[in-house]
Amino acid sequence: MFRLVTLSVLLFGLCAVSFAQEAAPTGPRAKNIIVMIADGWGFNHVEATDYYQYGELGQQVYEREFKLYGMDTHSASGQPYDPEKAWADFAWVKEGATDSAASATAMSTGSKTVNGAIGVDEKEQPLEHIADVAEKKGKATGVITSVLLSHATPAGFSAHDRSRGNYEEISKEMINRSGLDVIMGCGHPDFDKDGKPLPEGAEKSYRYVGGEDTWKQLLAGQAGADCDGDGAADPWSLVQTREAFLALANGETPKRVVGVVPVQTSLQVERKRDDNPADDTPFQDPLLETVPTLAEMSLAAINVLDNDPDGFFLMIEGGAVDWASHAGHAPRMIEEMIDYNKAVEAVVAWVEKNSNWSETLVVVTGDHECGYLTGPDSDPEYKAVVNNGKGNLPGTKFNKGSHTNSLIPIYVKGVGAELFEAAVIGTDPKRGPYIDNTTIGIAGKKLIE
Ligand SMILES: [Zn+2]
Repeated sequence: MFRLVTLSVLLFGLCAVSFAQEAAPTGPRAKNIIVMIADGWGFNHVEATDYYQYGELGQQVYEREFKLYGMDTHSASGQPYDPEKAWADFAWVKEGATDSAASATAMSTGSKTVNGAIGVDEKEQPLEHIADVAEKKGKATGVITSVLLSHATPAGFSAHDRSRGNYEEISKEMINRSGLDVIMGCGHPDFDKDGKPLPEGAEKSYRYVGGEDTWKQLLAGQAGADCDGDGAADPWSLVQTREAFLALANGETPKRVVGVVPVQTSLQVERKRDDNPADDTPFQDPLLETVPTLAEMSLAAINVLDNDPDGFFLMIEGGAVDWASHAGHAPRMIEEMIDYNKAVEAVVAWVEKNSNWSETLVVVTGDHECGYLTGPDSDPEYKAVVNNGKGNLPGTKFNKGSHTNSLIPIYVKGVGAELFEAAVIGTDPKRGPYIDNTTIGIAGKKLIE
């Protein structure tokens, strides 16, 4: 039986290859695809940040220039979004939410999976990422994040593991067995959450960077397998300081770059805060100056990837909108949203200066709503976020300490954007037409295969 199955898989595989060679691809073709994930965002995270940044709605570059849809984020562990139930019962979206691993896997591979799974299906069989297809087509690929470099979202766009918690194995796969050309994020073993060097003798965690041996290989410039199929190893260049990230954004770059930001967990969200968080306002605690912004990381990553004449796939994650929302902390949520928004502005400016919208697709979205953010005094009624003017904390309320099954916004612009219009599966009375999160993986692969 086993041999029969193996044989049929082989035959199918061969048939698939010969068919693919005969059939010329139809429809739009993308040279570059950039997927930007604000982990944990929802419609009200955008609204609250708009009020703080601009004193009004609609001023973000993606609100002005991109096409907006709602997005259903449910995983195979939960249930599809139901507009009627969601608006009839305030508590409905609190149940059955996805986690970041399942949602990243859905967006990257086009297939639903269970919560916690990284790039594998419900039977723990590996799924194909957009990045895998891009690799086959000779494109450069990268995943970057403002949180741990092997956290659920970058992992869910590049690795395969039954559990997101297997950080060491996941980061080993990303560093030693993947075709990625850029990996950037936090998890530096030598620094604390506030970006300070750990004292002599302190216990260090290497699991986010592939374990101590992999870290030593990275430091020695010896980590990394063959990423371009020529049989020779392609070692990573390691970047560790803000200056080095900034330098990467211009001029010549190494072929492959691992950027490990000098901080333990995330760029800014876990930096030291004052003793009374209840009256916090955004940016009252000075930002760490030793770490890059997500915009700086994005431009550094793109300048490495755009050396490839075939184009590239890049996933950029603002990972800590989620962390601040789990904590129910609006000031830091807004800080993280602003960092993400600035990264989108930098990417859009890059496309317009160095590429164009006929060859590049940019997707601006999240992976699930976190915190059930609404206006004050909500529950059981739904109340809107209150605008208190530019530079003032808007009136909000977090109704849950973790994820919800709410629709979230997805904004698309560029080549192949019409594939999203064709994928609309329903209309929400408040949010309008919506798609499923697997659309990103399905459309992304279709645009490059
Ligand atoms: Zn979360």
